Amino acid sequence: MSARLTSLLVLVSAMVGVSTACETESGSQDLMTMLKHRNEDWAASVLRTTPNFFQDHFDNGQKPDFLWIGCSDSRTTETTIFDQRPGTFFALRNVANQLLPSDAAMQATMEHGVGKLKVKHIIVGGHTDCGGVQTALLPASKSKVSEWVEPIRKIAAQFKGELDRLPNQRDKELFLAKKNVEAGVKFLQEYDLVRSALEKGEVQVHGGIYDVGSGNFTVFQTVTKP
Ligand SMILES: [Zn+2]
Repeated sequence: MSARLTSLLVLVSAMVGVSTACETESGSQDLMTMLKHRNEDWAASVLRTTPNFFQDHFDNGQKPDFLWIGCSDSRTTETTIFDQRPGTFFALRNVANQLLPSDAAMQATMEHGVGKLKVKHIIVGGHTDCGGVQTALLPASKSKVSEWVEPIRKIAAQFKGELDRLPNQRDKELFLAKKNVEAGVKFLQEYDLVRSALEKGEVQVHGGIYDVGSGNFTVFQTVTKP
């Protein structure tokens, strides 16, 4: 190959490289532009039906009736799946909707949501096809997700017999997702702030599962007493 041809090829490769980088950047920018436009359209549509909606939020703060403990999964956003507007849910979301005593985010959420905002209902919402639950059904590895879901892996070990008897992976995941929700509800029942709100009849705690395959949320547990 001649030196000239080689340098031409290098030049062409470089140009292709540059052009790919630009396309990726512009594709990603298009996504952000899409969000900007959708946000502007949404805010305008809310104002058409409720002219003081945002001003009221700004002037009077939030008064949510619900505290949602949900998964980080993008398919399970509480305000959307319950067809609500902003202001309905105070929320804590993490991988596989866990309530862990050492989690400072959980402690702060409880202090503010239950102690200050006085939510009336706390909902622990698990879901089908949860990546965190799926990871907990695998042997432990060094990944951060694997470490984070260790408490769910312990629940799986506790119910190993029942899990082994279930015929397929989907059933095992649903079973474990429910057990994880039950563990969250039990944790809340015993958590000081929630227990005292339960004693006073100020709050109820619910456990449920959102089916990402149908869009339906089913409450399977409600606790009204400590
Ligand atoms: Zn999940």
